[in-house]
Amino acid sequence: MNDTVADRFLRYVAIDTQSDGASETQPSTMKQKDLGRLLVAELLALGIADAHLDEHGYVYATIPGNTDKDVPVICFCSHMDTAPDFTGTNVKPQIVPDYQGGDIRLSGDASRVIRVDEHPELRNQIGNDIITSDGTTLLGADDKAGLAEIMSAAARLVSDPAIKHGTIKLLFTPDEEIGRGVDKVDLAKLGAQFAYTLDGETAGDIEDETFSADGVEINIAGVAMHPGFAKDRMVNAIKVASAIVARLPQEQSPETTSGRQGFIHPVEITGSMASARIALIVRDFEDAGLAEKNALIGRIAQEVVAAWPGATYTLKVHEQYRNMKGVLDRHPQIVENAVEAIRRAGMTPRRGSVRGGTDGSRLSLMGLPCPNIFAGGHAFHSPLEWISRQDMEKAVATIVELCKLWEERA
Ligand SMILES: [Zn+2]
Repeated sequence: MNDTVADRFLRYVAIDTQSDGASETQPSTMKQKDLGRLLVAELLALGIADAHLDEHGYVYATIPGNTDKDVPVICFCSHMDTAPDFTGTNVKPQIVPDYQGGDIRLSGDASRVIRVDEHPELRNQIGNDIITSDGTTLLGADDKAGLAEIMSAAARLVSDPAIKHGTIKLLFTPDEEIGRGVDKVDLAKLGAQFAYTLDGETAGDIEDETFSADGVEINIAGVAMHPGFAKDRMVNAIKVASAIVARLPQEQSPETTSGRQGFIHPVEITGSMASARIALIVRDFEDAGLAEKNALIGRIAQEVVAAWPGATYTLKVHEQYRNMKGVLDRHPQIVENAVEAIRRAGMTPRRGSVRGGTDGSRLSLMGLPCPNIFAGGHAFHSPLEWISRQDMEKAVATIVELCKLWEERA
């Protein structure tokens, strides 16, 4: 088991673990358990005796502490599935050893080129070994890099008694990409006080803030009628729905916002003359901003429908996830220790916000505070996904330093 982190990564990406939002099973695709079983076998081979895969597709494992100090139990977490956006079947990784700059043309599809202009992070990778797909599939660095890094760190912890640490928990989840990554997690069984996901991008990044997210559904009822006899009587729900969408503020769209700005985003519109449905997602870093956007949607729907006598509507808001920053700010040592671990692993730490959610945002709100650490991958969910071996090694070093820090500061 003298595998490098790159060896592990190449082994894991070969297993197709694409999740499927249309499936109602848990996990959404049974092939995710193929990787879960491999990870358990490897953990058992490392001597991590309680490693197991449960019926929902989660892998749990414990690395017992080797110190007399009372160290908080921390957990490292990453997800086993890949995104439904692009195929993950038959991934054929390509390695560019000792990258010397320039665009990277993918061998399996001449139209796929990772261009330095579009991927400026490549400029920081000179001399590194870059791993890509052949362009016909995604690579799966999101988040098999995280798995490989946690597994390599686990191997290092169990083989080197000189590294002092408390009890370390490992958690590998299915179905993160379809928003169900923590639906069936058993936090009592896990028994951790704090956690870290390894699911971020650039080496050195730590993210302690995510969007707060709601979904909004508007159902419109029109008045259906034979079009030949419709004068002054028909109300076409398609037109009402379209008028609502047309009134959404363009300056609050995903395509016009960045940084810490939120947005309103219609994701689906379906319907007929008789009835129509609009699904929207609403995102903001602040709860007040989220409430404002929901209220604006409500006002627009009310005003538009009022202008179409005979039409009626219902509007439902449901919570999707919440910014984890409020929870993490109550336990500042979680992020402080991660920042220091990144520094000790030889990088300049950079704190940032995720314009999205992570398993950690939901775990944090469920009572397991959980920021997100870089895993090193780039261009997630696409055939241009890439990662360097050296950045994965930096993530392994960060995990090991973090375990040492919690023990040192206990
Ligand atoms: Zn991910």
